[in-house]
Amino acid sequence: MPLGHILVIEDEPQYRFLIQLNLEASGYSVVLAENARTGLARVADAVPDLVLLDLMLPDFDGIELCRQIRRFSGVPIVMLTARAERKDIISGLNAGADDYVTKPFSVDELLARIQANLRRREIDQDPPVAAVICTGELTIDRSQRRVFHGNEEVILTDIEYRLLDELARHHGRVVSTAHLLDAVWGPGYEDAIKLLHQTIYRLRHKIERNSHQPYYLLNRSGQGYLLFKPDLSA
Ligand code: CA
Repeated sequence: MPLGHILVIEDEPQYRFLIQLNLEASGYSVVLAENARTGLARVADAVPDLVLLDLMLPDFDGIELCRQIRRFSGVPIVMLTARAERKDIISGLNAGADDYVTKPFSVDELLARIQANLRRREIDQDPPVAAVICTGELTIDRSQRRVFHGNEEVILTDIEYRLLDELARHHGRVVSTAHLLDAVWGPGYEDAIKLLHQTIYRLRHKIERNSHQPYYLLNRSGQGYLLFKPDLSA
């Protein structure tokens, strides 16, 4: 059993080689990606325990990639950066990275950061949320931010998607209206219950066969909403 499964997103071959060699020698298994696009796909399909992400990539910026990963994954992200400037590190952390290592780094330093972030992960582990969530005929592909009803794609606005995604994260459990308002709309919208109801209404029109008798988006009066999960054990 490897100590952990590490995805390395790095375009410079000499760094990729150095990192892979040392991580494997220390007992980790390694998946490599040489650009952001491939890296994003590997986060979804290889489900790593930790991502080492170079900030300067040929196709798009590591900070943007970090933001995209955070839309569907809570995997620990350690940025590798040649830019020691504070503002780049801060934008990386704001985009959802957990930690950073400045190039050139020593192997011991890199290994110490990886261990620390994996350990932290074990301590406050939320159950990981799958990249693709299916319920009935509904499929929510969180890695691509796309929703399908049967084979047909359902086109959602950003807010509609975020609301559905938040319910999908807690699939089968009731999510309070306060939590939904905070997670989807953010600070300042604590009382925007009407917005929530309108968005649920529009979502039901898009994903339910009969929006008056919802099958997927259920209301628990006085508690909140849930995304229905069929009980397969019955
Ligand atoms: Ca680079």
